[in-house]
Amino acid sequence: RGARAGILFKNGSQIEKMGKVKAIAFDKTGTLTTGKLEVAEIVPVVGEKCDRVLKLAAALESHSEHPIGKAITQAALQKNGQWQNASQVQAKTGLGIVGEVAGKTVKVGKTAFIRQEIPHLNPEFVRINKRLEKQGKTVVWVVEAEKVIGSIAVADAIRPEAGASIEKLKQLGIEQIVLLTGDNQVTANSVAESLGIEMVHAELLPEDKLTVIRQLQRKYQNVAMVGDGINDAPALAMATVGIAMGGAGNDVALETADVILMSDRLEKLSQAISLGRRANRIIKQNITFALSFIFLLLIANFTGNINMPLGVIGHEGSTVLVILSGLRLLL
Ligand code: ADP
Ligand code: MG
Repeated sequence: RGARAGILFKNGSQIEKMGKVKAIAFDKTGTLTTGKLEVAEIVPVVGEKCDRVLKLAAALESHSEHPIGKAITQAALQKNGQWQNASQVQAKTGLGIVGEVAGKTVKVGKTAFIRQEIPHLNPEFVRINKRLEKQGKTVVWVVEAEKVIGSIAVADAIRPEAGASIEKLKQLGIEQIVLLTGDNQVTANSVAESLGIEMVHAELLPEDKLTVIRQLQRKYQNVAMVGDGINDAPALAMATVGIAMGGAGNDVALETADVILMSDRLEKLSQAISLGRRANRIIKQNITFALSFIFLLLIANFTGNINMPLGVIGHEGSTVLVILSGLRLLL
C-alpha cells in the first residue's frame, strides 16, 4: 500500500513506528527546499574580480556532491569558465571544502569554517554577507592562501508543497516540528518563518543534528527525522524513524533511512503517518479478535459444545479472518 503511494518502508516494524510519531525534525537544504541551488550573487573583495572568485571556487566544488558545490560548478560552466585543476580536495561535511589550486590552499565554506583559520574577518565584508543571509540566501566564503578573496551567495526555492504538508502534519496532531540545518541562523529563521515552523536549530554539524534528535526523543519518545544528505545520516540512524528523500537523497541517506519518500513528495509524510496509525488500529483489532475467538473456543470445549473437526475449522478459520482483516490496509 505504501509502495503504491510512493512511500517505501524498508520493513514492517517501521510502519508501526510511523504511526506513533509525535515529533518530526526536518533538514532544510534539499529536504524543505528543492536543493537546486543557484548562484545569486558573487561579491569579490576590493581588487578582486567576480570571475576569479567563481572559478577558484569551482576548481574545488567541481569535485563536490553538495548542492552548493553543484550550484557553483554550474554557474562557472555557464560563464564558459575554464578552471584550474585542484588537488587534494577534501569535503568537510557541514562546513565546506578545501584543496590545493596552483600550489595555494583554497577553502570554500561557511563563516565558522573560515574563522577557524582567519579569526578576524573584515567587518564590512561580514556585514555585506549578513545582508544577503537575511534575504534567505546562503553565503560561502572563498579563501586563497589564508586571504579572503570574495564570497558567493546561493539561494534555492522552498518546495511548493512544503507549507501545506507541514500544516497537514500539525492537523494530524504532531506535537513538535523542528528545522535542523547546518546553514546559518538568519537563513534558517527566514525559511522556518515562511513555513510556520516554530523551533529552529541552525549551524549544526552532523553530530549536533544527532544530539537534537536525542533531546527530542527524551521528550517525545517517537521522533521522525526527514533528510537528504550525508550530513543527515547520523540523525536518520538515531531517529525512531529515519525518512529520506528518494530523488534528492544521497546514497548514504537512502541506505541509512527506514522509510523513503519516492519522488521527494513531502505530502506523502502525512499519508505515511495515517497509514501507520491505521495499521496499528488493525493490529489491535486483530489481536483482540484472535484472543476472543480462542477464548470462545475454550469455553465451547469445556461445555462440550464442540467436536474436534469444528474446533480445527474454528481455529484455522479465525486465522484466515485475521489475515483478511489485515488486508483491509490495501484498500
Ligand atoms: P544542510 O543541513 O542545510 O543540508 P549542510 O550541513 O550540508 O547543510 O551544510 C552546512 C553549511 O556548510 C552550508 O550552508 C555551507 O555554508 C557549508 N558547506 C557545506 N558543504 C559545502 C561545500 N561543498 N561548499 C561550500 N560550503 C559548504
Ligand atoms: Mg540537506
